[in-house]
Amino acid sequence: MKTSMLFIGEGLHRGAEFRRDEAWIAAKLGDPRSRILPVWRDRSLVLHGDAASAVMVTGADVPGAIELASEVVLLGVDGDIAYFAADLSHHETPSAGFLNGGAQFMDLREIGPLVEAREGAMLALARGLMYWHRNHRFCGVCGNPTASRSAGFVRKCTNEACGREHYPRTDPAIIVLVTRDDNYCLLGRQAVWPGQRYSTLAGFVEPGETLEAAVAREVHEETGVRISDALYQASQPWPFPTSLMLGFRAHAESREITLNDSELEDARWFSRDDVANFETRDFQLPRFGSISRWLIAGWLADTA
Ligand SMILES: [Zn+2]
Repeated sequence: MKTSMLFIGEGLHRGAEFRRDEAWIAAKLGDPRSRILPVWRDRSLVLHGDAASAVMVTGADVPGAIELASEVVLLGVDGDIAYFAADLSHHETPSAGFLNGGAQFMDLREIGPLVEAREGAMLALARGLMYWHRNHRFCGVCGNPTASRSAGFVRKCTNEACGREHYPRTDPAIIVLVTRDDNYCLLGRQAVWPGQRYSTLAGFVEPGETLEAAVAREVHEETGVRISDALYQASQPWPFPTSLMLGFRAHAESREITLNDSELEDARWFSRDDVANFETRDFQLPRFGSISRWLIAGWLADTA
């Protein structure tokens, strides 16, 4: 079973040391070697066939892409090459030469599995940052407009008497594979999910809560099952819109399932045999590339 996770790219340096260097940013925005990734209303510009690849505007098209954008943010640096994202969301229908030739704006959630890992990570960063910009146009303290600073990693209140700086948000969410007797795992499904897909349990961390407490609370709220030994496994950026998924495994201390809130339409214990052979059973697993699938695959590999 494939076990890689999407949106975790290696090798792109984020270039945080350049964000406040306005002369460097201006030079890179005027450099035809720079690469611009357009984003339109949460959608990423890609060429889509059997695989998908990010459209990176470069060369003579760089000034036009920047001109069209309402926000430009620095995604990272690779050697001398700077990568930026450009938000075109304010255009009803963005129009430019680089948008021709088969390029389409598509949802990263759909095309993520088809994109090479590092490109996927850049598209995730671009989407997450642009979502944050579009949803933080006003200061939460005084209500005045905010303006982008630090190459898109700060929004500063334009009211001088306030001047509050706002930083990009990431919302921590736990996701957990609960197991019992090393031979059963607890999966649930939401009514809106396609087919008969079952997944690991997940939920947002609340203020003042540890991750371990959030795991225990979410599992109990959703299924009535009590757990122990929540152990951290790995994390995955999940920019739909702003989550960071923190993956855990936990042991069940009780068996009976009670759907306590309205989040899940069903939850069941699945045997290791069922999960390993799900293609011949009456349910589906989460998609490849999700941390949910990764947690399930890791458990199967451990106990095989
Ligand atoms: Zn303010």
